[in-house]
Amino acid sequence: MPNPWMPSLQQRIILDHLMNGVYFVNKNRAVVYGNTAAEQISGFKLEEIVGKACRDRIAINASGTDGPYCEHCPLVEKEDTANSPIMTASLQHKNGYRVSIQKCCVPLLDANNQTVGAVEIFECTDAQEALSLQLEELKEIAYCDSLTGVPNRRFMEEALQEWLLLYKKKKLPFAVVMGDIDYFKNVNDKYGHDAGDLVLKEVASTLQRNLRSMDIVGRWGGEEFLILMQNIRPKQLGKKLESLRKAIEEGSVEDDGIEINVSMSFGCTVPREGDTPLSIVSRADDLLYKSKREGRNRVSVDDTYDLCPVDP
Ligand code: GH3
Ligand code: MG
Ligand code: MG
Repeated sequence: MPNPWMPSLQQRIILDHLMNGVYFVNKNRAVVYGNTAAEQISGFKLEEIVGKACRDRIAINASGTDGPYCEHCPLVEKEDTANSPIMTASLQHKNGYRVSIQKCCVPLLDANNQTVGAVEIFECTDAQEALSLQLEELKEIAYCDSLTGVPNRRFMEEALQEWLLLYKKKKLPFAVVMGDIDYFKNVNDKYGHDAGDLVLKEVASTLQRNLRSMDIVGRWGGEEFLILMQNIRPKQLGKKLESLRKAIEEGSVEDDGIEINVSMSFGCTVPREGDTPLSIVSRADDLLYKSKREGRNRVSVDDTYDLCPVDP
């Protein structure tokens, strides 16, 4: 008896030229037809899987249960799945490994609008996954300071630009802090460049540990760090900066049995009308140099801070 599910010759030519895998499954969820792309993606020849239930061999989801693989399948779920969403799943390749796929499952209806089966359309996404992972890695390299592991200047410039836009649109207040290690040249001169590098790493991690999760610290360059602090009240800000200053002062790095201590000076400002990233950073810089002039290991906060519309 001819297979009533078998597409016509013309339909098969079209189906076999698709990049997507296509399976027809009957009401018992057994495969009755598959195109060339389905064979290539799963590794199974059509004759090897015809009659097998889709969950038996070729289409087992990653968790080994019906789980997400059967979600939105018109043969499993009662709801109308005519507009079936695209799902991510995985199938078991004939050679034993799993293949990541994106799929959707559409009901096949008879003349009386009764579901008689389903068509599953899928594509392999392994290459896309590898590509997006590579992109993530590249992004991380492009935005990360390789010595300290904190965001680099490029990241901080973009973050500052974004925060400033949000401030202008939604009055979301924030503070910009420039910090610079005091007499750092002496550390290099006295203990060597590698010891200096250790100090930079330790300072970055001390700053990071002592900030709130919504704040960002990045290496601006050399021994300078930029900190962005979100929605912080004047009183809290003074306390926070003082605690950062203290944490750096009290921390130390051990190199060859020698304890190295450093201190840090800070300058802090908040956005004003008409500010640009450049103008705001240069104001924080001026305040940092005020701290340096006044003896280092101290914090200078913009005296217009009270004018900033921070929540009361
Ligand atoms: P001040 O208190 O005025 O900031 O004095 P300072 O000595 O910290 O400032 P100065 O600008 O004179 O020196 C900064 C030094 O930081 C000089 C430079 O060699 C060193 N430096 C910059 N980047 C690195 C780095 O990646 N590793 C190490 N070890 N040293 C660095
Ligand atoms: Mg310095
Ligand atoms: Mg400096």
